[in-house]
Amino acid sequence: MVDVTVRGAGAFGLSVAYACAARGARVRVVDPNGVGGGASGGIVGALAPHVPENWNPKKAFQFAALDMGEAFWRAVEEVGGVPSSYARTGRLQPIADDQALALAEARAETARALWEGRYVWEVVEATGAWTPLSPTGRLIHDTLTARMFPRHACAALAAAVQALGGSIVSDASEEGAVVWATGAAGLEALSAERGRMVGAAVKGQAALLDVDARDLPQLFADTVHIVPHANGTTAIGSTSERDFGAADTTDDQLDAVIARARAAVPALADAPVLERWAGLRPRARTRAPMLGAWPGKPGHFIANGGFKIGFGIAPMVGQVMADLILDGRDTIPAEFRPEASF
Ligand SMILES: Cc1cc2nc3c(=O)[nH]c(=O)nc-3n(C[C@H](O)[C@H](O)[C@H](O)COP(=O)(O)OP(=O)(O)OC[C@H]3O[C@@H](n4cnc5c(N)ncnc54)[C@H](O)[C@@H]3O)c2cc1C
Repeated sequence: MVDVTVRGAGAFGLSVAYACAARGARVRVVDPNGVGGGASGGIVGALAPHVPENWNPKKAFQFAALDMGEAFWRAVEEVGGVPSSYARTGRLQPIADDQALALAEARAETARALWEGRYVWEVVEATGAWTPLSPTGRLIHDTLTARMFPRHACAALAAAVQALGGSIVSDASEEGAVVWATGAAGLEALSAERGRMVGAAVKGQAALLDVDARDLPQLFADTVHIVPHANGTTAIGSTSERDFGAADTTDDQLDAVIARARAAVPALADAPVLERWAGLRPRARTRAPMLGAWPGKPGHFIANGGFKIGFGIAPMVGQVMADLILDGRDTIPAEFRPEASF
């Protein structure tokens, strides 16, 4: 007997399954490709905020998720006994010129209120070896940004779901409430069903370098995320491709990202490349997450549209979906509802 069937064992499906199982529901996750078989099986794992200004429901939702990240991932690790590689190590970004410096200083003010005094956005001197080149000699440092290794995080969530009595299988019939957390394939199927573009895949390529900066902040320079991981590797990413051929191949566009990272951060100049990886980000038509009841399909729910911040918001996705599915309590922002993209 199953209360909730979750289709998709990525960041969204596993987070929903974990939240439901933690509240006592009997959960079954179904995925023919196994745990982390989609975008969630990647290597980047930046849990980073948008800039602290022009506040809106998406930024507020993301802040709530990043804020609860530490407690969420520690609980997942404790329940399942598998490390997620989560750590709140902060982030450094170069400041290009005087105008950007003034903006960074203004955002230090707005961050104080919007981040509720718990995290800092500040301008610091660029010093030390683990530093992006910065024309002003100054950097933005924030203490809200965290990181985890996506594959480890999926394994940790899967172990927690199973420790709570849930199962993860490659095939099964649907029982109970059904959650469609099927990523890019799910958006494609929805678009075909509705005869219009509800969402689409955006391909991303990333690389893993042999650089051990595990306790140091992540860097964001020349639009490249540089994310040191707990296992002594450093990820860099990513390309953003709406038009692409094969979903899982890498090419000279990734070479260009690696070259930009090496140029921006001298410490990466000679670092060997350990792995090249590509995946499909699920992007809803609105670019917002797509969360809620499936219109016209009673008992079915959608958790999709994680796009570029799927891991960052996963803790809140689990929470609001469990509220809706188990308690009938809908706390999901209106612009996240599937209807907004339908
Ligand atoms: C290069 C790259 C870098 C990224 N960097 C970051 C980052 O730094 N920080 C961040 O927060 N996010 C990042 N993302 C985005 C993040 O990876 C995604 O938002 C997130 O993984 C989406 O999770 P998901 O569970 O919705 O989808 P997926 O992980 O794709 O999972 C969907 C699952 O559904 C399964 N499935 C499909 N159809 C069915 C079906 N009919 N029945 C059952 N199962 C089905 C698939 O096998 C798949 O496992 C990045 C993505 C890419 C590609």
